[in-house]
Amino acid sequence: MSDSNQPQDFAPRKVRCPACAGTSLYSSTNPYRPFCSARCKGVDLGAWASEEFKLPDETPPDEPFGDPRLQ
Ligand SMILES: [Zn+2]
Repeated sequence: MSDSNQPQDFAPRKVRCPACAGTSLYSSTNPYRPFCSARCKGVDLGAWASEEFKLPDETPPDEPFGDPRLQ
């Protein structure tokens, strides 16, 4: 009979850190959320940057959408 004062919106949630797959606290007390630490956040950002730079390199050059003369 005391369910009128539950701060569910402010309850910290535990999520999986995208970098190390460990437990991370998703709350305002964790400035690196959804990562668990500053190192994990930096690692993930670095990986993203490298992948973005790698993406155009791995794209096959024979895409059917790149040649307007085919139509
Ligand atoms: Zn982590």
